[in-house]
Amino acid sequence: MKIRVRFAPSPTGPLHIGGLRTALFNYLYAKKNKGLFILRIEDTDQNRYIEGSEVYIQESLEWCGLLPDEGPNNGGDFGPYRQSERKHLYEKYIRILINNGSAYYAYDSPEELAIAREKSTKKGETFVYGSHNRHLFKNSLSKNILDQDRIALGKYVIRLKVEPECEINVFDEIRGNIKVSSNSVDDKILMKADGMPTYHFANVVDDKLMKISTVIRGEEWLPSLPLHKLIYDAFGWKTPKFMHLPLILKPNGKGKLSKRDGNKEGYPVFPIKWDSETKGFRESGFLSEAVVNYLALLGWNNSDEREIFSLSELINCFDSTGIQKGGARFDYEKAKWINRQYITKTSSNDLLLLPETQKVLRAFDKEKQFKILALVKERIYTLEDLKSEISFVIKPFPFDEKSVRKLKKNNPERILNKVIEILKNDPELTGFKEELLNWASQNKINIGTLMQSLRLSFVGRLVGPDVFAICTLLGKDVSLERVQRLLKHLS
Ligand code: GLU
Repeated sequence: MKIRVRFAPSPTGPLHIGGLRTALFNYLYAKKNKGLFILRIEDTDQNRYIEGSEVYIQESLEWCGLLPDEGPNNGGDFGPYRQSERKHLYEKYIRILINNGSAYYAYDSPEELAIAREKSTKKGETFVYGSHNRHLFKNSLSKNILDQDRIALGKYVIRLKVEPECEINVFDEIRGNIKVSSNSVDDKILMKADGMPTYHFANVVDDKLMKISTVIRGEEWLPSLPLHKLIYDAFGWKTPKFMHLPLILKPNGKGKLSKRDGNKEGYPVFPIKWDSETKGFRESGFLSEAVVNYLALLGWNNSDEREIFSLSELINCFDSTGIQKGGARFDYEKAKWINRQYITKTSSNDLLLLPETQKVLRAFDKEKQFKILALVKERIYTLEDLKSEISFVIKPFPFDEKSVRKLKKNNPERILNKVIEILKNDPELTGFKEELLNWASQNKINIGTLMQSLRLSFVGRLVGPDVFAICTLLGKDVSLERVQRLLKHLS
């Protein structure tokens, strides 16, 4: 059987990284098994629809290189790939369930249902509409007739008729067999009063019509699985395989990672920027390859300690038996560590093409941009770090006075004067390093003091990249000026 998987997001806002992880696992599973990765937009809930979400989803997938084989923008033999364009299909399929007695019309008004709900709440019970009480409501089963007037007015919903006392067995590839009693499933609405299907109905019909072989989605859909099984059974359809991916948890492991966590702690939980409040990994200076690599490790492991995988390596190694059941903790430090590995191994030329790099280095000419990047590339975790890491190129930091006091005890003036002398005589800085180090060794100068003198001069504090490389980057004049500045400060 041809492997066909789908990523089926609802356009209800930006795609959380949990959603992107679902897309990634679907993609990996498809590619590993020489199958197809399908994008289906589940936009039947008009109240939750948010303009721009679909474009955002497409852009996020594209940024990560997870290109659908079939989808709203790609075409394919099973379209349309937007549920709002498939209304005619749901109408056809709901008829089948009405005709075979698995579904029925319900005419209860929202007000009537609200009263019933309130009654249950007063008794401390949760309201359910099902086999035990459906005869008390207005529906085609209790009245045993079709209320043509209401149907003509569109004042009805269609509900699934769930038989009581049945055992529902459904298998999840990650969690094994799941067994529940049909008494725990209510007569869920399949078609809403607005003529649109509910998620559950459209989802099952489309998975069937699109010949989906394996449904891979987040754990939050696991409670819906028995209901979905009943809908498959009502049609007499075989179910696809199911895999429910573990939740992505907050860093402390307590609860699901939310947008609020990101805002509070200052890390992105979305792939790309959505609005001014919603930072993306991309705008935070992450490379898409690093994000993909990190997300793959959220709930999956390769049975060895390996942590760095390109997308094609992931495809090769991906095995669904490595998907874990338990929640996966989000670890921003690890995401940054992985990003650092990718920044280090990406060429400066490629990094310079990224808008996030240009945002910081725009002010410099191409040659200088290249030199700066080469100097600090291995020191940063995100491209956003570039800004603080290179600020000394424009202006040194204010002197770190603690370091200045410490250095002062070692009489750095002699060193600084020598540096000035050499710099003045070596406009191209060709022999600067060698001459200075030779002088230091002949005059028994402590190398630590020498390096600290240079670093404090050039940077203003004792951290930063190689001092001789900084000197070359700054050029003779600026270097000279900075050494003189420290000398003046010391006196
Ligand atoms: N539309 C659902 C969502 O946005 C899809 C669930 C599924 O994959 O079945 O999560």
